[in-house]
Amino acid sequence: MSKKWKTRTNLVHGGSRRSQYNEVSEAIFLTQGFVYETAEQAEERFANAGPDEFIYARYGNPTVAMFENRMAVLEGAEDAFATASGMAAVSGALMSFLNAGDHVVAARALFGSCIYVLEDVLTRYGVDVTFVDGTDLNQWESATRKGANAVFFETIANPTLEVTDIPSVSKIAHRAGARVFVDNVFATPVFSNAIRQGADVVIYSATKHIDGQGRALGGVILGKEDFIRKTVEPYMKHTGGAMSPFTAWIMLKGLETIDLRVRAQAAGAYALADAVYGHEKLHRSIYPGHFRHPQYDLAMNTIGSGGTVVSIDVKGEKEGAFRFLNALNIVLISNNLGDAKSIATHPATTTHQRLSDRQKSILGITPGLVRLSIGLEDPDDLIEDVVQALEVA
Ligand SMILES: *Cc1c(COP(=O)(O)O)cnc(C)c1O
Repeated sequence: MSKKWKTRTNLVHGGSRRSQYNEVSEAIFLTQGFVYETAEQAEERFANAGPDEFIYARYGNPTVAMFENRMAVLEGAEDAFATASGMAAVSGALMSFLNAGDHVVAARALFGSCIYVLEDVLTRYGVDVTFVDGTDLNQWESATRKGANAVFFETIANPTLEVTDIPSVSKIAHRAGARVFVDNVFATPVFSNAIRQGADVVIYSATKHIDGQGRALGGVILGKEDFIRKTVEPYMKHTGGAMSPFTAWIMLKGLETIDLRVRAQAAGAYALADAVYGHEKLHRSIYPGHFRHPQYDLAMNTIGSGGTVVSIDVKGEKEGAFRFLNALNIVLISNNLGDAKSIATHPATTTHQRLSDRQKSILGITPGLVRLSIGLEDPDDLIEDVVQALEVA
């Protein structure tokens, strides 16, 4: 592994460890434990395990370590810890760091489970949480003015695709003494500049673009070595949210092709957003990578892409959105994203069902909103499918 390689080389070779057999493809070390040659060696390893010495798969495993190392190289982070799911990464990063009495400022436009962790879990342990409009720097400024320990936001928010300005929010947060935690799923590790722009901790659900083929749940927390090893690792290894070695192998294989896949998916998302822009059956279409989106300049300057998801607000309320969904032939009705297969989701009745009507309307989760995750199909076929379903709606 070398830092001087370019991204696509690192995605294929970064973090590789070979056994005595010199296998080409990364080995799956499907073992929970490791044999010590002597009792003294066991004692020494528990006291002070090196990066290539393993104890128990909840603490670490060679296949999982390969995935962590490859992710760290890709993200430009010092270190990484792999987790059982994206939510294990979000909750683990926050719970391992925060204490009762701490203050967190978070963007209000978030994935439903992230809202639950912040609003229902952290507050039960005495953490004070303030929600702000993530696109309004003045709100970040005033909410952090009285001091904050952490800020948390999604770079591109699910499902309304609001872009948060990482460099500016990081500056505001650091002035207040807060660590910057970024849920970077929608920006994807391919386009991310989060660490260079000031984020302290970057979190991915690997379930999304990293697997990219809908097979396994996983997550990863990236940051400074000190934070990963002294704060995250003890919490994760003792609370049990470790990634399985088999999952790590799937994710390693996903990383080999992620750059090719995500760039093709983002190109498809742009083509679809452009094709449906101003369509008579839509109140609006949202894609931050399209030049007509109000945050286009910010998206281009900070992320360099609009990502792989397009949201559309179908006329005719829930009934219109359901007619559209039920008329799709290629795009599947499901709730993953970043997958090779294009997927349509109705957030108001699924991923964000739990929210009150008032919260939904504040977040712009209207009854007609449909989130389209663009896959690897030919964009012409996808456009034709979406347009014919819009005629039915
Ligand atoms: C999916 C998702 C998560 C949770 O990831 P899981 O792997 O499903 O646990 C967290 N944040 C965002 C933005 C997501 O899209």
